[in-house]
Amino acid sequence: MDLKPFIRDVQDFPKPGILFRDISPLLADKDAWRATIKQLADLVRPYKPEMLAGIESRGFLVTAPLALELGCGFMMVRKRGKLPGGTIPHTYSLEYGTDTIEIQDNAVKKGQRVVILDDVLATGGTLAAAVSLLRKAGGDVRAAACIIELTFLDGRKRVDLPFEALVQY
Ligand code: AMP
Repeated sequence: MDLKPFIRDVQDFPKPGILFRDISPLLADKDAWRATIKQLADLVRPYKPEMLAGIESRGFLVTAPLALELGCGFMMVRKRGKLPGGTIPHTYSLEYGTDTIEIQDNAVKKGQRVVILDDVLATGGTLAAAVSLLRKAGGDVRAAACIIELTFLDGRKRVDLPFEALVQY
C-alpha cells in the first residue's frame, strides 16, 4: 500500500520556509495506519529488538503499536522534566543553544537490543542524541526507523546505524 497519499503537506509550519509532513491523515485511516505499522514491523523485525524507544512526541504514536506488533517493550525518550523518578539525561547542541532529552534510569538493561523510532527524520539531530543517550544507558542500539525520511537533509549520515524509512521525500 502506497502511504504517500495519506501524508499531508503543510506549507510554512511551524515557521516560514518549513514544509511540514503531517501524518494525521495516516492516523485517521484505519487501513493506512494498519499498513504503516505492518510495513514498519517488517523493516524492524530483522534487528530482533527487545525494546523499542520512541522519541517525543509523535514517535510515541508509532512506537506503541509497533511494540505490540513485534511483541517487545516500549520506552519513552522525553524532553527534560517530563519523566517521574530517576532519569538519565543527555544534552545536545541545536543551531542556537542546547536541548536535553532523558529516559528513566531503569528503562533499558545493559546490553539490551534497542531500536529507536520517530515519525520523521529531518536533520537527524534528535535521533543522533537519542542514540547517544541509549548507548550511555547501556543499550545495544541496533537500528533506527521512521515513517518519513527527508533525504535532502542527509539526516541518516548523522547516525552510525542502519536506518529504515517507509516514505522518502
Ligand atoms: P530533526 O531535525 O531530525 O532533529 O527533527 C526533529 C523533529 O522534528 C523530528 O522528531 C520530527 O518529528 C520533526 N520534524 C522535523 N522536520 C519536520 C517536517 N518537515 N515535517 C514534520 N516533522 C518534522
